[in-house]
Amino acid sequence: MKIGVPLERDAVETRVAATPDTVKKYIALGFEVQVEKGAGKASRIPDAEFKDAGAKIVADAAAAFKDADVVLKVRRPTSEELAAMKPGALVVGTMDPFGNEKDVEAMAKANVAAIAMEFMPRITRAQSMDVLSSQANLAGYQAVIDAAYEYDRALPMMMTAAGTVAAARVFVMGAGVAGLQAIATARRLGAAVTATDVRPAAKEQVESLGAKFIAVEDEEFKQAETAGGYAKQMSEEYQKKQAELVAAHIAKQDIVITTALIPGRPAPRLVSKDMVQSMKPGSVIVDLAVERGGNVEGAKPGKIATVSDVKIVGHLNVPGRIAASASALYAKNLLTFVTTLVDKETSTLKVDWEDELVSATVLTRDGAVVHPAFAPKGD
Ligand code: NAD
Repeated sequence: MKIGVPLERDAVETRVAATPDTVKKYIALGFEVQVEKGAGKASRIPDAEFKDAGAKIVADAAAAFKDADVVLKVRRPTSEELAAMKPGALVVGTMDPFGNEKDVEAMAKANVAAIAMEFMPRITRAQSMDVLSSQANLAGYQAVIDAAYEYDRALPMMMTAAGTVAAARVFVMGAGVAGLQAIATARRLGAAVTATDVRPAAKEQVESLGAKFIAVEDEEFKQAETAGGYAKQMSEEYQKKQAELVAAHIAKQDIVITTALIPGRPAPRLVSKDMVQSMKPGSVIVDLAVERGGNVEGAKPGKIATVSDVKIVGHLNVPGRIAASASALYAKNLLTFVTTLVDKETSTLKVDWEDELVSATVLTRDGAVVHPAFAPKGD
C-alpha cells in the first residue's frame, strides 16, 4: 500500500495533509509514504522531518502519486494532479463540490474514488475525523487574533494611573464551532462579548461561555434547527426582525466576527452597508464566510476593505493562517479516517463502501459520480 502526499497547488494553501507524526502511524499500518519535496514548508515541517519519520521525499507531485493507492490532499485535486494519479486511487481531502460540479465529474472521469471529508457525518464515531470542526475551531480563534491586530485599541478593560481603557465590545454572529471558539478567545482577551445564531441550541452554549445571547426568540426560531444540527434557511420575515435587532446592536460594537454558513448554499447576508456605516471609526469586522459569498456587504475575498473608516477583513483560508496547527489537526483527522479503511490482519486497503462514513463522503467511484447530491438525476 502506498500513500502520496503532494505540495498543495492552490496559491493560498499553506496546509499539508500529513505530518511526520501521521506518517509514522501510516507506516505502522503497513503503508509506504511518498511526500513531495517542500510539501510541509509553509506548515513549518522541513522535508528532513518527514524523512526521519520514514517517508520517501520525491521531486514532484507525479512522483508522489506514482502507484499511490491513497492520496492525501487538503484541497480538491487539480486536473494535472488527477492526470498523475493511478486509476482507482482513493483521494481524501476537502472537495468543496457545491458549485464545482464540473470538477467532480473530472474526478469521476479520472476514475479516482474521491472522498469529501467535509461530508463526514457528525456522529460520535466520526468526531475525530471532523475536518470542518478542527479547521473551524482554529478559524474562530484566528478571526479574533486578526481582529485584535487590525483594531487600534486594547481589547481588555485596563485601569491604569493614566486612565481607564474600556473593554472592546465583540459581537459574534453564528455560534457554531468557529463562533464558539471566537467567543471563548475574545473572552480570554478580556472583551465584552455578545453573540447570535438562528439555532436555539446555540443560546445555552453561548451563555455557558459567559457571553450574552442576542436573537429574536419567536416560534420560528424555536424550530430552526435541522435534525443534523445545522441551521435552516430562515423566512424573510424572520430575517427582517432579526436584522432590526442586530442593526441596533451592531451600532454599539467595536468588533464584529461573522461565521454564519448554511451547508450547500451561499452564506446568509447578515450585515448590510448601513450597519457597517453605523459603527464607530476604527471598528473592525471579520467575515469568516467571505469565501462562501460573505455575511457582510462590502467584504472582499482576500482583502481588507475599508468602508466609512470601518475595516472589513476578508482573509482567505483563515485556518491556513495558523498552518502548523491547522495541518497537525487536519492530518490527524485524515489518519483516523484512513485507519478505518485498512485491514490490520493483512495490511491491505479494505474499503467498506456501505459504511456510513464512506457512503456519506464518497463523491466519485468506478468512473461515475456516486454521491446523491451530485449524481445525475434519474439514476
Ligand atoms: P456552520 O459552519 O454550518 O455554520 C456556522 C453557524 O452559523 C451555525 O451555528 C449556524 O447555525 C449559524 N447560522 C446560519 N445562518 C445564520 C443566520 N442567518 N444568523 C446567525 N447565525 C446563522 O456550523 P458548524 O459550526 O459546522 O456547526 C453546526 C452544528 O453542528 C452545531 O450545532 C454544532 O454544535 C454541530 N456540531 C456537531 C458535531 C458532532 O456532533 N460531531 C461536530 C461539530 C459540530
